[in-house]
Amino acid sequence: EAKDNGGAQYHIYHTDMYQRVAHRVMMETEVRQALAKGQFSLSLQPQLQTATKKLCGFEALLRWNHPEKGMISPDDFIPILENSEHMVELGYWVIRRCFEISSNLQRSGLTDVTVSINLSAVQFIDFNLTNYLKALLEEFQLPASCFELELTEQTLVKDIERAIECMQELRSIGFSFAIDDFGTGYSSLAYIKKMPVDVIKIDKSFVFGMLENHADYQIIMSTIAMVKNLGLVVVAEGVESSAQLRSLAENDCDIIQGYYFSKPIPEHDLAEFLDTRIANGYWKIQPAVCKI
Ligand code: C2E
Ligand code: MG
Ligand code: MG
Ligand code: MG
Repeated sequence: EAKDNGGAQYHIYHTDMYQRVAHRVMMETEVRQALAKGQFSLSLQPQLQTATKKLCGFEALLRWNHPEKGMISPDDFIPILENSEHMVELGYWVIRRCFEISSNLQRSGLTDVTVSINLSAVQFIDFNLTNYLKALLEEFQLPASCFELELTEQTLVKDIERAIECMQELRSIGFSFAIDDFGTGYSSLAYIKKMPVDVIKIDKSFVFGMLENHADYQIIMSTIAMVKNLGLVVVAEGVESSAQLRSLAENDCDIIQGYYFSKPIPEHDLAEFLDTRIANGYWKIQPAVCKI
């Protein structure tokens, strides 16, 4: 009987593994087609200076509008593609779009508004990344200071020496770096010490319950203090309420990003967003409290 069970378990495990591989292969093929068919787009989520409500950046977030499945969240396909050359290709597409978007922002006079680009590990250790970025700076005639490159601790863990080398080179030409989802990896404090970074983004999982959960609150407030004492900029993502905003402001968190101000805005709605919500670079009226 035990043997039968073992057999059944083996079979289930085997099928599951097979399905995951099949799913990944299907995803990779679909991504290539989706790129060709223009099914990807970017949404931009505003980042505001906490103290002044001045718009200081947009984070570019990938969206896949699948003809049958509808909008697919990046959390549902990026992890699957994470280790494939398809992610590199898709990543290059994202970077180019970010240059186009930044170029439009510059033309609208928003010269100190940055565009943050999320990079995955395969992209980051790709040897063409630096040259690709340099070529785009040339093509679009933009300074690298228009961009911030977001890396997660997972991205950095792959090849730390190579990562540092790459970051130093890109920083020397003016790109800045943010560590995304800070606090969720295995050795956040080691990274903050070793990595040539400019910005730390506190993961939204700490922000969500910060006013109800004592530990989350203390983690956030200590992180803000530590990051600022190190001379870096601190961002809180996932800010959904005025109470969270107030508390973060009281504790000198530099930058806020979250649904409280705005959900990510589809590219084609960006001009209207800037017209209706932003005046002279500042948030116009009371933040839109989005339904979540
Ligand atoms: P992330 O880089 O940490 O981006 C922040 C995520 O939090 C976004 O999810 C954003 O929509 C969401 N968010 C922001 N404020 C709030 C809030 O107040 N409440 C809640 N509930 N969520 C909020 P999204 O767009 O689904 O992206 C998920 C993840 O996918 C990103 O997390 C990033 O890791 C990855 N990703 C997105 N675009 C790209 C890309 O172009 N390249 C790479 N490599 N990864 C990307
Ligand atoms: Mg990010
Ligand atoms: Mg994040
Ligand atoms: Mg994330």
